[in-house]
Amino acid sequence: SEPRLVAPAPQTGDADAALRPQTLAEFIGQPAVCTNLEVFVGAARGRGEALDHVLLHGPPGLGKTTLAQIVARELGVGFRATSGPMIARAGDLAAILTNLEPRDVLFIDEIHRLAAPVEEVLYPAMEDFQLDLIIGQGPAARSVRIDLAPFTLVGATTRSGLLTRPLRDRFGIPLRLDFYAPEDLVTIVRRGARLLDLELTEDGAMEIARRSRGTPRVAGRLLRRVRDFATVAKRSPVDKLVADAALARLDVDARGLDAMDRRYLGCLAASYAGGPAGVETLAAALSEERDTLEEVIEPFLIQQGLLQRTPRGRVLTAPGWRHLGLAPPAGAQP
Ligand code: ADP
Repeated sequence: SEPRLVAPAPQTGDADAALRPQTLAEFIGQPAVCTNLEVFVGAARGRGEALDHVLLHGPPGLGKTTLAQIVARELGVGFRATSGPMIARAGDLAAILTNLEPRDVLFIDEIHRLAAPVEEVLYPAMEDFQLDLIIGQGPAARSVRIDLAPFTLVGATTRSGLLTRPLRDRFGIPLRLDFYAPEDLVTIVRRGARLLDLELTEDGAMEIARRSRGTPRVAGRLLRRVRDFATVAKRSPVDKLVADAALARLDVDARGLDAMDRRYLGCLAASYAGGPAGVETLAAALSEERDTLEEVIEPFLIQQGLLQRTPRGRVLTAPGWRHLGLAPPAGAQP
């Protein structure tokens, strides 16, 4: 099937790198995260020490990879990126760790998906910058200890709840990224338009920002698609009308929901009377992975107040019913 236009996860064809802010000063939004990083990065740089390990958590597309790169640049150290599923064996991680220069940043995306034996190797590495390796097998096996250069691990995860407790405890600086405020997204859209050489009116920028799911990656993608539309239709500058026509054609509704989001809400309404319905049940009904529902679709619907996650299952709220053009039943959550 067609990749979702408003899916926050990266897709082929995304020119993310072109829009990536390079410094903390250039990074828009997430004020709490930025203030914290500024202080800790400044202190580590001043002392010439490795920065404490950082855990970034929040939905995809909000800037975790970008922030990890910025941290390395602001520290003036090397940057090495990998991801949990890419590190298959303990030896793979050992190879990466032994190649780090002092104070380097190692970025591990999807860190909640590290294999257990790999995670075991990570503990002493994070804590004491030491590697405990078992060499050989059977009775001849022996353990060797290798000193590592002090480094900073920046871990990223969409759901910190999936991290094991011992791993979570080893991050000195846990930071949570939230969906962006509309005014920050407007700034991000305007900056993107400038970089993409797209003429955009103020209300055009607001329209795209409003429909970007609170997510910079989606904002960048919508901008590029609207630019294509405007080029073909020979419309410049892009104002609210042009943006709206482009986004309507791309099936992104006034709130930034796409067909998949509406299918989710519609299924909950039509097949389960608005819930509660279990996530497994919904995943089966929609032929989607449970992880996709939990990590990609639900967070934004919940943030928008259209959906509630309760101990008994997912529940459509009154605004959720109304978004589908249906009257909320008596007793629907406001
Ligand atoms: P994540 O790692 O959380 O999935 P990324 O760091 O890859 O997200 O960010 C996705 C894209 O969104 C980046 O390439 C960049 O173009 C854009 N982006 C993210 N955060 C910001 C921001 N604060 N300001 C401007 N653009 C941003």
